[in-house]
This record gives sequence, C-alpha cells and structure tokens, in this order.
Amino acid sequence: MKSRVLILGAGFGGMELATQLSNALGEAADVTVIDKGESFVFGFSKLEVAFGKKSLDDVRHPYQDFEKLGVRLLRETITAIDPEARQVTTENGIYTAEYLVVALGAEVDPFATPGLAEIGTHFYSVDGAERVCAALPDFKRGHAVVGICGFPYKCPPAPTECALMLDNYLRQRGLRGECEITLVSPLSILTPVSADLSDALMEACEEAGVNVLLKTLVRSVAAGIATLDDGQELPYDLFLGVPKHVAPKVVLDSALAEGDWVPIDLASMQTAFEKVYAIGDIAKTGLPKAGSFAESQASAVASSILSKIKGGTPKPNTGSGECQVEFGDGRVSWADADFLSGPKLEVIYNPPSIEGRKHKEAFAKKREMRWFGK
Ligand SMILES: Cc1cc2nc3c(=O)[nH]c(=O)nc-3n(C[C@H](O)[C@H](O)[C@H](O)COP(=O)(O)OP(=O)(O)OC[C@H]3O[C@@H](n4cnc5c(N)ncnc54)[C@H](O)[C@@H]3O)c2cc1C
Repeated sequence: MKSRVLILGAGFGGMELATQLSNALGEAADVTVIDKGESFVFGFSKLEVAFGKKSLDDVRHPYQDFEKLGVRLLRETITAIDPEARQVTTENGIYTAEYLVVALGAEVDPFATPGLAEIGTHFYSVDGAERVCAALPDFKRGHAVVGICGFPYKCPPAPTECALMLDNYLRQRGLRGECEITLVSPLSILTPVSADLSDALMEACEEAGVNVLLKTLVRSVAAGIATLDDGQELPYDLFLGVPKHVAPKVVLDSALAEGDWVPIDLASMQTAFEKVYAIGDIAKTGLPKAGSFAESQASAVASSILSKIKGGTPKPNTGSGECQVEFGDGRVSWADADFLSGPKLEVIYNPPSIEGRKHKEAFAKKREMRWFGK
C-alpha cells in the first residue's frame, strides 16, 4: 500500500505529526500511522501507576479513539525499514510512502543490567510500574535505592520525581523514619534543562532527607547489593530502577541507525535519506528525550512536508519543550525551554506550587483533546 506520509509509531511525536497534517490537509492528507500497541500512555502516568495514584485503566488512551480526517492508524508490528526505498514491512504487508517519518521512541532494556530484569521493579515501563505498585506496600523499613542504569534516558528529572514521591508515600504511612532513600544519577545536576529547577530539586531532596549520588550509574543489582560504576556497593531492600534505553531493534537493523540512535539534521529532522525523517526519542538530537521535545520536532517535520506539498518556507525545529516536575508533596514545577531558536538556551522557570499541578493537568488535557477528542 502506498501513502503520501507514513508515520512509524503513534507516541508523542507520531500522534502530534499526524494531527498537524490532518488539520492542515483534511481528507487529502493520506497519512498512515503504524503502531504495535493498543493504547497510548503518557510517560508521567507510569509514576502515577507506580505510586498507586491511578490504575492502568485510568491512564490508557485507546488508539481506537484517535480519529483524524485523512489518517488511518494500523495496529501492526514493523519488522523491517528500508529508508532508501521508503518502504516498511509489517506482519501484514509492505507499505511505501512519499514521506517516511520514524517516531518509534526508545525502549527500556532491563536485561542490559545484570539482575535488574529478575528484580523487575523498574518504573519506566507500564508493566514495571505495576510491579513497583505491588512491591511498595511490603517496603516498611530499610534502604530504597532509585538507580539509573544507563544514559541517555527519557525525561531527565523523572528519577528525582520518583525519589520525592517515595519520600511522600512513606511519610503518609508513618514509615519515613524507618527508611533511607538514595538516588543514583549519571548527571552532574538533577536536570540539565534548567539550573533553577535543578537547584530546587536538590533543595527538595535535602529537605526530604534523600541522599543524592551524582555522576555515577548502577552497573548491576544482586542479592540486595547495587554495584555502581565506581565500584561502590550500596545495600538495598527496595530497588527502583531506570533501565538502560535502546532504540527498537527494527531501527538498529536498518540503514538509519548510526551507533545507538538515528542521526538527523537538527533544523529539519531529516535523516541521511531524502524525505525520511526521525523525531522524538529515536533521533540523535543531543536534546532531552521527552514528549514535549518530540512534539516540537513533529511541528518542524509537519512544516517541512507541508512546504513541499503546498509551497512556502519550512519553519525549523525550535528545540523547545516543557518540563513538568513533581515534588512529591502535590506541588509541581515547570520550565519552558527553547534550545535552538536563539544563540543560547532560553528557559522560563516556574517554582513548585499547587498551581503548577493545575498547569500539568491542563497540559495533559490539551493533548487528550487534540489527539483523542476527549
Ligand atoms: C517515568 C516517565 C516520566 C516521563 N515524564 C515526562 C514528562 O513529564 N514530560 C514529557 O514531555 N515527557 C516525559 N516522559 C518521556 C516521554 O514519555 C517520551 O520522551 C515520549 O513518549 C517520546 O515520544 P516518541 O514519540 O519519541 O516515542 P513514544 O511515545 O515512546 O512512541 C513510540 C511508539 O512506537 C511504537 N513502536 C516501537 N517499536 C515498534 C514496532 N516495531 N512496530 C510498531 N510500533 C512500534 C511504540 O508502541 C510506541 O507507541 C516520561 C517518560 C517516563 C518513562
């Protein structure tokens, strides 16, 4: 089957791109989106599931609700990508396109860290988040380690959010005095997007009594011991992990990947192949791997494709995104970052507040409405 635009992946980037093309072209859009999943889940919802704030049913957005003029969404697994021919194979057939956009995200690989898959309590996947939720009630005393096992990873502040949410979870149960929490991060500050946000997170960790170990990684977890990059051994009673991130195998097996990710031109998001783009976590941008950055990259690709179809000058990728951060006690901070529009990174930082929670809820609601109509 041939389409004008073929989008691989219906995550943050893929859905936003399909929506913008549909809005601009209507029935004439002729867009096909392929995803192997049944539903979309916001990244931050995994933390809500892990801490029992929401059930999986509450946070799933079924793809059957993603209805856009000129867009068909196929639930199939992509098994091969030929960027030269702009051709894709799934278990059901072969698809070609005039424009091919790869938005297949980053996967987590718990098997890359010895012991992590067996423990199972990693909160970066829906299954892992459910296992964390099941394990938390049994943790009543001892040492909890929130440990990052690879870099880059999605949403740089999310592990700190997890440590602060765990602090609050234990306080609410009157158990905090019995428990120690340590966060292990490869970063030199808690989030690279904003120094102010990073300082506020560090202050919150100090106030909450969360130990922070920076510039190191968890290399293995076994028999109650997490071994770090520098050889340090941390005994733990609960390990909440961020597994190493990898590109989907179908991308690594294609001519698109160079090393671990897909190189792109940062302004247009085009790959080394003409009319073949990569957006979101799969693209090697050097920017944070986060949904809102995938969205601004989708805007650049929509603009590039529309300019080729309708004329006009394409708008380059702004490298902009919004980073919302839970402080564990109900307050949320957010920072609006723009990496590429000006000569240097511009950030507007909003300190943590209850207002910030309303802002985050409005951010999610806006996407739910735009993508799923509810
Ligand atoms: C705990 C956590 C908290 C987060 N918090 C935030 C936050 O607050 N704000 C924020 O902006 N971002 C956040 N993120 C990051 C955000 O979720 C991702 O960066 C974002 O989803 C990336 O979008 P994407 O389009 O690149 O990929 P994804 O959204 O991951 O979509 C990729 C899609 O490709 C599909 N796919 C993969 N392989 C195949 C295949 N072979 N065949 C068919 N389909 C396939 C998948 O099913 C998936 O639907 C968080 C992530 C986590 C884990």
